[in-house]
Amino acid sequence: MLEKIIDSTTQVKRYNWKQTLLYFVESLGYKPIAKNNSQGENGFMNKLIHQGIEELVPYPPGKPIEELERELGIKGSIKLASNENPLGPSPKALEAIRARLSTLHRYPDGSGYYLKEKLSQKLGVNPEQLILGNGSNEIIELSVRTFLLPGEEALQAFPTFLVYEKVVKAAGGTMISVPLQDLSVNLERVLESLTEKVKIIFLCNPNNPTGSAFTLDQLQWFMDQVPKNVLVLVDEAYIEFSTIPGQHTAEPPIKSALGLVNRNENLLVLRTFSKLYGLAGLRIGYGIGPSTLVDYMNRVRQPFNANTLAQAAATAALDDDEFVAQTLSLTREGLSFLKGELDKMGLEHFPTRANFFLIKTPIGGRETYERMLRKGVIVRSMESFGLPEFIRISVGLPNENQRFIQALREVLGL
Ligand code: PMP
Repeated sequence: MLEKIIDSTTQVKRYNWKQTLLYFVESLGYKPIAKNNSQGENGFMNKLIHQGIEELVPYPPGKPIEELERELGIKGSIKLASNENPLGPSPKALEAIRARLSTLHRYPDGSGYYLKEKLSQKLGVNPEQLILGNGSNEIIELSVRTFLLPGEEALQAFPTFLVYEKVVKAAGGTMISVPLQDLSVNLERVLESLTEKVKIIFLCNPNNPTGSAFTLDQLQWFMDQVPKNVLVLVDEAYIEFSTIPGQHTAEPPIKSALGLVNRNENLLVLRTFSKLYGLAGLRIGYGIGPSTLVDYMNRVRQPFNANTLAQAAATAALDDDEFVAQTLSLTREGLSFLKGELDKMGLEHFPTRANFFLIKTPIGGRETYERMLRKGVIVRSMESFGLPEFIRISVGLPNENQRFIQALREVLGL
C-alpha cells in the first residue's frame, strides 16, 4: 500500500533539500521581498520560491498576553485564545524537568525510549508504532514531507486546523477543502471528493475550531471505503476532553481512533501533550500508526526533534492522574458554566466535544476580538478560519470564565 505514498527514498531526499531551503528562506522573512523581486529586474526569488510558498500567509497564533499588555500598557489580562490548559503545566512534569536540567549539555535520546515505553504501555501499542514530534504540529509536517510530493493533493474538511493546508501548500501540494455540513465533518462528502491524486486525508476529531466530533463507527465505515494507498491522518489533539463520561453534553463519549490503528495500515493518529497535560510551551506530541508507516517518517525526521526536557516532562505527565482528573473536571464545569451564560445571552454557539466554544457574535469576530482586547481578554477571531461572524474561546479558570462573560456582555451591550 505504501507504493503510492512512497515513490522512492531518493525522491524523499531530493524533496527534503528543497523544503529545507524554502523554510530557511521563509524564516528569514524574505516572503514579501520575493513578491517584488520575482516581478523585478533580477527576479532571483523566482527560482527559489514556488507558487505554494508565495501564496502562504504566516499562521496567525492566539495573541500572547505579554504582547497585549505591552501594546496597551495594561496588566492582569487573560488569554482564552489557544485552547491551552488554564491550570498550568502538570506538576509531575515540572518536577521531571527540574531533575533533568543538569543534563542539558548532552543531546536528547534520539529514540525517545522511555517516553515511547510509557506510551506503549498506556495505549497498548508497540513502541515501533510511535513517533515523537516537536509538538504534534511537527508530526503533521513530517507526514506531508514523507508522503506527499509536489503536485499531489490532500483533502480536509474545512474549517479546520489551519496548519494542514499550510504544510501541504509549502510542500508544493494542493489542499482540497470539503465544506463542513452544519459545522460538522461529513465523512461521506469527504469521500465523494477523493481523487486519484489525493495522498493524505486530514480529519480533526474533535474538530478545531467547531468542537464537533465523529464516532468510531463512522470512522471505521470511512476507513473501509478509502483506498489503502491513501493515508488517513486523524488529529486527536482534543480527544481526551470528549472521552470522559458525564460531559456537558448528553452524548456518549467519543472513542479514540487508536482502536482502529492495528486494523488499518493507512491510519495515523495524532496526539499532543499541549492541551490535557499543559505542556504547550515545551513542544511535544506524537503519532501512532502501523510500524511500516512510522518507520518511513522516522527516516525523514530530525534526529533530536523531541528535546530532553520535553521527553522527561511528557513521560512524567502520563503518570499525573491527579492533574488529568483536575483538568477534566475544571473543563467540564467551565463548559457547563459558559454554555449556561451564552444561552442566557441568547448567543448562538456550537455544541462542543472539546475544551473550547465556537460563538457567533452579532458584531462579527474581528470586532468582538478587538473590543475584548481593550478589556484585557484575548479571544480568537475566526476570520482566518473562514468564519468571520465567530469567535472561539477556550475554557479558562472559573474567574477567567466569569471575566470573559462579563466583558462579552459589556462589549455586545447584552
Ligand atoms: N492539532 C490541532 C487540532 C490543534 O488545535 C493543535 C494546536 N492548536 C495542534 C494540532 C498542534 O498542537 P501541538 O502543540 O502539539 O503542536
